[in-house]
Amino acid sequence: MEGESEASLPGLKIQTWGTHCCVLIRLGGRSEYTGLAMSCLFCKIVDGSVPSTAIYSDEECYAFADIHPHAPVHVLVVPRRHIDSLAEVTTEDRPLLGHLLWAAHEVAREQGLANGYRVVINTGADGGQTVEHLHLHVLGKRALHWPPG
Ligand code: 5GP
Ligand code: ZN
Repeated sequence: MEGESEASLPGLKIQTWGTHCCVLIRLGGRSEYTGLAMSCLFCKIVDGSVPSTAIYSDEECYAFADIHPHAPVHVLVVPRRHIDSLAEVTTEDRPLLGHLLWAAHEVAREQGLANGYRVVINTGADGGQTVEHLHLHVLGKRALHWPPG
């Protein structure tokens, strides 16, 4: 990823990308690290250090209720791994992107959105993205207008 850098000490790795920084600690294997500190809000929600209302969870992603809902159901689906935005994904992320859509489908099913719903990915400044960790909005339980603002 552009702007990404990495520094290492024995057992520790410090990774930065954009305005984010992550300290990783070696678990035992030669290259297995786990996140220790992360400045990103949604990474903190994923690791539980910022509380959230869980809606769906699996090995790749986590879904939780939006703190300022714009519909009776407003859920955010985020990858557990930090990715800034949809603009930053790579070829390697293609299975993950399919998985996130699958998770949005599961959220809609579990939330009873049989009458329809909307999945939105705000991307970058013009897209209205305010949190720089890729996320899907799942909105439902009311009629949604089109076009969006
Ligand atoms: P964006 O504007 O980047 O597409 O969406 C970010 C969303 O994150 C917004 O809908 C906002 O309400 C939500 N959000 C921001 N901070 C928090 C938080 O601390 N907890 C939860 N659950 N949602 C948040
Ligand atoms: Zn993050």
